[in-house]
Amino acid sequence: MSRDPAYDILFEPVKIGPVTARNRFYQVPHCNGMGYRDPSALAGMRGVKAEGGWAVVCTEQVELHYSSEITPFIELRLWDDRDIPALAGMADRIHEHGSLAGIELAYNGMNGPNLYSREVPMGPAPLPVATFTYDPVQARRMDKTDIANVRRWHRDAVLRARRAGFDLIYVYAAHALGFLHHFLSRRYNDRTDEYGGSLENRIRLLREVVQDTKDAVGDTCAVPVRISVDELIGEGGLYKEEVEDMIGLMADLPDLWDVTIAGWENDSQTSRFAEEGFSEPFINGIKRLTSKPVVGVGRYTSVDRMASLVRKGVLDLIGAARPSIADPFLPKKLEEGRIEDIRECIGCNICVSGDFTQSPIRCTQNPTMGEEWRKGWHPERIAAKTSDKPVLIVGAGPAGLEAARALGRRGYPVMLAEARRELGGRVALESRLPGLAAWIRVKDYREQQLHQLPNVELFLDSPLTADDIMGFGIPRVVLATGATWRRDGVGHLHTRAIPIEDDAEVLSAGDIMAGRLPTGKHVLVWDDDHYYMGGVIAELLAGKGYRVTYATPASEASTWTRNTMEQFFIQKRMLEKGIAIRGFLALNAVRPGEATMACMFTGREERLEADATVLVTSRLPNDELLTALNARAADWADSGLESVTAIGDALAPATIAHATYAGHRFARELDEAPHDGDSLPFRREVTELLKA
Ligand code: ADP
Ligand code: SF4
Repeated sequence: MSRDPAYDILFEPVKIGPVTARNRFYQVPHCNGMGYRDPSALAGMRGVKAEGGWAVVCTEQVELHYSSEITPFIELRLWDDRDIPALAGMADRIHEHGSLAGIELAYNGMNGPNLYSREVPMGPAPLPVATFTYDPVQARRMDKTDIANVRRWHRDAVLRARRAGFDLIYVYAAHALGFLHHFLSRRYNDRTDEYGGSLENRIRLLREVVQDTKDAVGDTCAVPVRISVDELIGEGGLYKEEVEDMIGLMADLPDLWDVTIAGWENDSQTSRFAEEGFSEPFINGIKRLTSKPVVGVGRYTSVDRMASLVRKGVLDLIGAARPSIADPFLPKKLEEGRIEDIRECIGCNICVSGDFTQSPIRCTQNPTMGEEWRKGWHPERIAAKTSDKPVLIVGAGPAGLEAARALGRRGYPVMLAEARRELGGRVALESRLPGLAAWIRVKDYREQQLHQLPNVELFLDSPLTADDIMGFGIPRVVLATGATWRRDGVGHLHTRAIPIEDDAEVLSAGDIMAGRLPTGKHVLVWDDDHYYMGGVIAELLAGKGYRVTYATPASEASTWTRNTMEQFFIQKRMLEKGIAIRGFLALNAVRPGEATMACMFTGREERLEADATVLVTSRLPNDELLTALNARAADWADSGLESVTAIGDALAPATIAHATYAGHRFARELDEAPHDGDSLPFRREVTELLKA
């Protein structure tokens, strides 16, 4: 098959200064939690993106000098020549597939507390460092010598980046994450010298650094500028009209404008809070300010939308971080006329959580993400089966669906049995909750793929018992039966059931998703799960007219969502919906019409009147089948049963990303020699010790 001519426009080459992108698909810089700790894994990941057809593949932000580092975040480093080989490896992997390698050099300035180097951070003004974690560190004001030094360090890093083989060398002035952004924005820049005050003065440093960079690279590399058109705080910070004037003043100086919104949490909003293309109003109109190409993002997964953005003259290059994570082969699939095979990003930001937790990037939709080098997993290739033994998978949630898809691709005969009348398990239920509709893509993609696999049979409306399974005579059984939300209050805080009187009205998150609603007017939602579920259920109930009190032992609603950059948006929406949010509270007992809450610090108790209580605390694996089958292990041989394996939530409940990973892993490892558990099941990069 070949591509639909309607998308030809996306495959036109684009000249970016002295280099040419072979098409319009551009993987913008994105963090990944691997950085300097896992350079080979990172190179593997970027290489797969290039192989998948992204014409430009960029690094994440790369610390250019030791005096500006962002420990504990793990990004790349280009502090001195010894960092070059790690980066060169990445550029090489990208070049192998005919793509251009971009590097985003960053001098974080007052965005980094310098916890590792212990240098004093610098910025345009003497302000507290602007971190997500309120570090008790202030930056000092840069004087002219500092400015000259940083310009020189930037230039040195540019030359090292060129030696490492990069084709595009960024000047990073976006997301409030670097000194150049801080100089641009009145929010941080109170200077009275020639670097502060007027627009012309505030862009002086950016202009100088761009010029330095261009002088350093000559016509060997392109020099993109990444800028934020709005900080979304009005005229106290950067706003669109002002930034348009800035871009107008520098119009054709850089080779490319990469346009974003600040901060990162606004630029990478989840599907719960922002539609595909949410940043379009900010990007609109930038192209008329410059003759240079413009790239921008918007969590674009619709290829029609991408083509229309180019046609309408909004963008020259379609920028993508998350869509390229969810499907590194998006461009190639489009080129080959396989649009239906594209694995669309669901906008959950689990990928972002890798950066925030300093762990290698993972993706809900793409279980191979981050495992390209460590485990040798390729998003599109998987080893052929090594036996013909059929596999029965029980449960068609994310774990069962992914196991079926990947085993099906390997060529195994697969039977997938699902108790309910629809596929999807938890994603079918959760995607009906407020704001989570896009999550159904986890099911949609896999369902679509399964239909292409004649060796996979689907059985809906088929709740299986141990007897059924023993009767089938299928040698390999996978239990992907999911988990059930608890109704006894056991969670992070209470590891034993809390006292609940018989007549008290208590519901679980599962009850709500099954359509059961509280009978009274005032509902207490107690969240000891801390990810999205408690907040979403509170929002759902408020939307149905209940008076909702949300209480949690944490300091804030849905606290783990700090790692997906959603916490602020969640709490804002809850407050706007009139939900009372009470932090630092333990739920100690539930009686009819009231709950006993206790302060997490003093233990002082208070009674909270509530007609019903919804407990969002933790889940129990649905392991009845496993227990029943294990109890009959002596009969397995007679029934032709060889193995029973629980995966995903049925083994240990976690995120949807854990479930797709578990399903994929099972499929990859089937018929491999069983892993002994003593040695590492993945490759690991170990730092070489210096002798001295
Ligand atoms: P995971 O996240 O691990 O994939 P889910 O809870 O999303 O788990 O999915 C589990 C699926 O398994 C649900 O759709 C559920 O209906 C199905 N299921 C559970 N028990 C059985 C059973 N005995 N027979 C068939 N399907 C089952
Ligand atoms: Fe998209 Fe979620 Fe994957 Fe990130 S983790 S790329 S947001 S599906």
